[in-house]
Amino acid sequence: MDLPEHAIEAKALVKTYAATKTTPTMQALRGIDLAIPRGSIFGLLGPNGAGKSTFINILAGLCRKTSGTVSIWGRDIDQRPRDARAAIGVVPQEIAADPFFTPAETLEIAAGMYAVPKAERRTAELLAAMGLSDKAKAYVRQLSGGMKRRLMVAKAMVHNPPVLILDEPTAGVDVELRKQLWNYVLELNAKGVTIVLTTHYLEEAQELCDRIAIINRGQVVACEPTPTLLARMDTRKVLVTPQEPMAAAPALAGFDTQLLPSGGFAVSYRTGQSSVEQVLAAIRAAGLHIRDISTEDPDLEDVFVSLTYAAEGV
Ligand code: ADP
Repeated sequence: MDLPEHAIEAKALVKTYAATKTTPTMQALRGIDLAIPRGSIFGLLGPNGAGKSTFINILAGLCRKTSGTVSIWGRDIDQRPRDARAAIGVVPQEIAADPFFTPAETLEIAAGMYAVPKAERRTAELLAAMGLSDKAKAYVRQLSGGMKRRLMVAKAMVHNPPVLILDEPTAGVDVELRKQLWNYVLELNAKGVTIVLTTHYLEEAQELCDRIAIINRGQVVACEPTPTLLARMDTRKVLVTPQEPMAAAPALAGFDTQLLPSGGFAVSYRTGQSSVEQVLAAIRAAGLHIRDISTEDPDLEDVFVSLTYAAEGV
């Protein structure tokens, strides 16, 4: 069998939610182009409201796209919706398991929905992999939150899909469980499963993913191997209080500046390219006198904004 180069490929993907009585029309995805290489652990990173869940829901067949094309494992979701859906397992953000079934029953029912023949079901194996063997016959309502979440991962894998999607997998999950979850995910990846995870934690994406796409306001603003992306995120700011408050940000050779409400200004620089020393030299060269300075690391929101502006050519 020919394996596809990309586990998932989206082209010019647009999703517009229609207006309701209480909400205006919302363009949640504004032309997403994304190619997720087969075999990767791919991070879809973005702030709340960026469009991550909308993208995942379209892949999962839970939400209809407005326009554009999407293929999963080389199968177009319009032309071969069933085949496309059979190629992914989705671990939802919310725990969706009937409290009155046991974990074993939950997996059997899910396998039945994918028409997995009895002989090919892997209920015991999946429960063991998720550390739930001794809970196989407990009611789901008796499981801890962490156990339920592991059950969701097992449920997403009942049909042995080549692509596993985890939507904000560690929100509200303790450190120990997070480690266990990642170990299993890494094991699956080692066996060839492509992993896509959404998160709004840079650290999580950084630790696990070999490639990261950043989406903001429905657009892909960066999509690069993790080390390349991190190197682009080395922006720092020097906050300067001049002797006299300023009415406009000064022009400094080689640096971006920004006026602060206090009448001071911020100078952005890249740690890989310049030093605070050079920033100070540029300020002095502009004939400005400094009363006080401090430095600031950008938070993720700053990074999203700067990458978004870069993408928009502002
Ligand atoms: P994320 O998962 O990155 O937080 P979402 O995909 O949930 O982002 O949301 C993207 C945008 O679309 C947000 O502005 C959100 O309010 C809006 N949105 C999401 N779901 C719906 C819906 N069912 N109807 C209308 N707007 C929605």
